[in-house]
Amino acid sequence: MPIKVKCLASGSTGNSYAIGDGENVLLLEAGIIARKILSGYLDMLPRVKGLLITHGHNDHARSAPKLSDAGIDIYATAGTFQEIFERSEKPVRPYRAHTILAGKPFRLGTWEILPLEAQHDAYEPVCFLLHSSAADENLFFVTDSFYLRYRFETPQGKKIPLNVIMVECNYSKEALNHSVAEGRVPEAMKRRIEQAHFSLENVKDFLTANDMSTVRHIYLIHISRNNGDPELFRREIQRLTGKPVTAF
Ligand SMILES: [Zn+2]
Ligand SMILES: [Zn+2]
Repeated sequence: MPIKVKCLASGSTGNSYAIGDGENVLLLEAGIIARKILSGYLDMLPRVKGLLITHGHNDHARSAPKLSDAGIDIYATAGTFQEIFERSEKPVRPYRAHTILAGKPFRLGTWEILPLEAQHDAYEPVCFLLHSSAADENLFFVTDSFYLRYRFETPQGKKIPLNVIMVECNYSKEALNHSVAEGRVPEAMKRRIEQAHFSLENVKDFLTANDMSTVRHIYLIHISRNNGDPELFRREIQRLTGKPVTAF
């Protein structure tokens, strides 16, 4: 069965996604309250192998401690666990906390997961390249990174075909400049956004730098309410790639 993607929330107020391959489910991010995550994915819970978290900001990690209470294993870098600990009143249960490292692959059921470094103002943020042996597909998940240097090749230079892409498309330069001109976004915040988040222009560069021939679906995630336009972004990326695009 091809990889299925479900989204409960996307954007700066909270992120929560689930990916399934017919056998195992992985949760991605936990930036909304635990109760909503547990009820939103209720039918999938028996097949959940774990929760992957990219970084410790609240809109991605808020309910990690509570989900660990609910028996969900959590996979994140040491920096992310540290940041969760500093931001919340309770820690992730130690025996549910599995420390991962950029560049070091690990396996959860039918999923092989490779964390890769992301560029964001958090402790040790990562993105994920995932392979499902059940779906025989590759999915790339990246959010909260203002820059991406990856081209998908093995160390031997063999191409890794991407089938599903979930990529942050936070803002467009034009919309951000407009927000600054209208006084909705202060200059300092503009600089922070530019050094923390992925723009429409960056998404286009990233997609053109990589081989799109095997891609069957692109999901645009973490779109800013102030500086983004989901429908416009969806149309532009669809026009550029010729692929079906969903903007969450
Ligand atoms: Zn975020
Ligand atoms: Zn963040």
